[in-house]
Amino acid sequence: MLWVAIVALVMTVTAVAVAARRALFLYKLATVGPPAPERIEYAKTHLPEELKAQLVEVFGQRKLLKWTPSGVAHFFVMWAFFILLTVYIEAYGAIIQGAITGRPNFHIPLIGRWPVLGFLQDFIAVACVLGLVAFAVIRVMNSPKTHGRKSRFSGSHLGGAWLVLFMIFNIIWTLFLARGAAAANGNLPYSSGAFVSIALGDVLPAGSLLEEIALLLHIGFMLVFLIIVVNSKHLHIFTAPMNVLFSRRPDALGAAPQMRVDGKPVDFEDEDLDPEKLGRGKIADTTWKGFLDFYSCTECGRCQSQCPAWNTDKPLSPKMLILDQRDHAFKVAPYLLGGDTGHAGQDVLALLEKPLVGEDGVIHPDVLWSCTNCGACVEQCPVDIEHIDHIIDMRRYQVMVESSFPSEAGVMIKNLENKANPWGMSEMKRADWIEELDFEVPLVDDKLPEDTEYLFWVGCAGALEDRAKKTTKAVAELLHIAGVKFAVLGPMEACTGDPARRLGMEFIFDMLAKQNIETLNEVGAKKIVATCPHCFNTLANEYPQLGGRFEVVHHTQLLAKLVDEGRLVPVTPIEEKITYHDPCFLGRHNKVYSQPRDIMSKVPGVQAQEMHRHKDRGFCCGAGGARMWMEERIGKRINTERVDEALLTEPDTVSTACPFCLVMLGDAINEKKNNGEAKQSLEVVDVAQLLIRSVKS
Ligand code: SF4
Ligand code: SF4
Repeated sequence: MLWVAIVALVMTVTAVAVAARRALFLYKLATVGPPAPERIEYAKTHLPEELKAQLVEVFGQRKLLKWTPSGVAHFFVMWAFFILLTVYIEAYGAIIQGAITGRPNFHIPLIGRWPVLGFLQDFIAVACVLGLVAFAVIRVMNSPKTHGRKSRFSGSHLGGAWLVLFMIFNIIWTLFLARGAAAANGNLPYSSGAFVSIALGDVLPAGSLLEEIALLLHIGFMLVFLIIVVNSKHLHIFTAPMNVLFSRRPDALGAAPQMRVDGKPVDFEDEDLDPEKLGRGKIADTTWKGFLDFYSCTECGRCQSQCPAWNTDKPLSPKMLILDQRDHAFKVAPYLLGGDTGHAGQDVLALLEKPLVGEDGVIHPDVLWSCTNCGACVEQCPVDIEHIDHIIDMRRYQVMVESSFPSEAGVMIKNLENKANPWGMSEMKRADWIEELDFEVPLVDDKLPEDTEYLFWVGCAGALEDRAKKTTKAVAELLHIAGVKFAVLGPMEACTGDPARRLGMEFIFDMLAKQNIETLNEVGAKKIVATCPHCFNTLANEYPQLGGRFEVVHHTQLLAKLVDEGRLVPVTPIEEKITYHDPCFLGRHNKVYSQPRDIMSKVPGVQAQEMHRHKDRGFCCGAGGARMWMEERIGKRINTERVDEALLTEPDTVSTACPFCLVMLGDAINEKKNNGEAKQSLEVVDVAQLLIRSVKS
């Protein structure tokens, strides 16, 4: 068997050298950009958490298993990679032993004759084949040829995917051929357990040649597969665990990424700050974590299938956002890594200088500005790609370096700068709603009264927008009835900065956030309740980046608790069919799904009806990501799509828990009413409004 060992050795050394060369290239490319020390630091200091993430996300395939049957199929195929490593140890062992002793009857020391291992190997190989069949069926049934844009594979590299399925199939059939031949020759380590291999051994002819050729074929296919993997989207087999390890925990939702220059948090007061380095303008501005995202994308399209922009015919696909950057990175890689562009032609220089965003850029501006930051892509991505981080970083460059963004948003930014609210209204109007109540609401002018339990963060919409003011008043009344001591800041409150940050105007966010943190610290705020999920998210998750640490709850969390404790008792029946819309910044970004539903379930008479897309797969209203202040000119309006979905439940009322959702859904419902497509009595209300109606007898 010496010749077999020589052929195997040559094949292995060649393939490993080719793969290693590619791995080195990928490493060098990933490290051309700025550093991301915070990712390493976090992983180092949160090892138990990271270990758990590896177990749950990588080995447990948590996100993929939500997508049965493709999740189940992937689970088995992935585990086949791990378990069948033992088969490769056996295969190489057999070749070496065969070359030395002439008898390829190698077994792994200690566990190598254990029938359970033999069974596991055969079982997972069979399960893998079934997984491949399932993948093939899913791909045919969801083909972009027949489903067009609706197919999650639309835009993916389909040929490469089929090639990989074919290669895995080759690995499995040669595995059984090699093990069957070994069994026929009495060389298989297992006398029981390996049910398929032993059965094949009974029908295959004895003789060393078949076993030798089968072993070489099996190893050969694996080596070719290795080379294909490191040159294709299947690179995720190696990079996905790393991407999960270095992703933001618990996921890249909630807080927007802290802005960094050269790996350090940005300080706008630093005179040495290079404004050209704000955000990402070119592919070379991408950190290694960004490249890891590119390398990890499996092109599964789950993000695309959930994206509200993509689903309403806008040009944004989160998948293509990643793939377009990746393809561009590979195109410019030789020049980026080569360094010397002295003799390069104009076309190469133009490619190197190609802006990430622009009419002729890698990403079209319409793609960038279509994002609502809803988080559906991040939530679904099985390999923890951080689409929102990419989008926000590109927006930062567009806004702060290029001054290029939808003009309508400019008004909002000016208003924030001058009046500390997006509508440009006087700060004195922030307390007007209090006058419409028949009890007193303490307005802080210095320190919070001693007995204050919560500072009620009203938010710009809650204080200034008529529909949102109804929620504000309902919450204030409910807190009053429950005997919760609270106070409000009134004119001392400024916008949290969320719309500025999501637009990419980090400078204004920084200014407003620091101002608010100072105010909150000065008045002695510890516990805050907010009605707006955007305020809630910013106060709870983003202010800590700037040193502001407060205990923040959303009003639905507090109200659900008060109902639970019997401090609020819903008594008046509301005999209505109600469908609840999950606000993205409350649900997906902060995982508050149950409390609004709990409140509704306690109101007598309410018949709750879920929409098709709800909870973590809820569909955005279209207002997040500062889209509230931009025109929606392309495709179907997102709020209309959502209301169409709500109407399918034939509701009497649509409920929600966000002032922006209230406005967006309300507008779409009004349009439907005007067109005669919705009944005139249909309204959208906050769950707090429902509760107060029921609490008041
Ligand atoms: S955050 Fe939402 S809108 Fe933006 S790309 Fe992801 S799914 Fe699409
Ligand atoms: S970004 Fe994630 S969800 Fe989207 S296609 Fe790539 S792997 Fe799939």
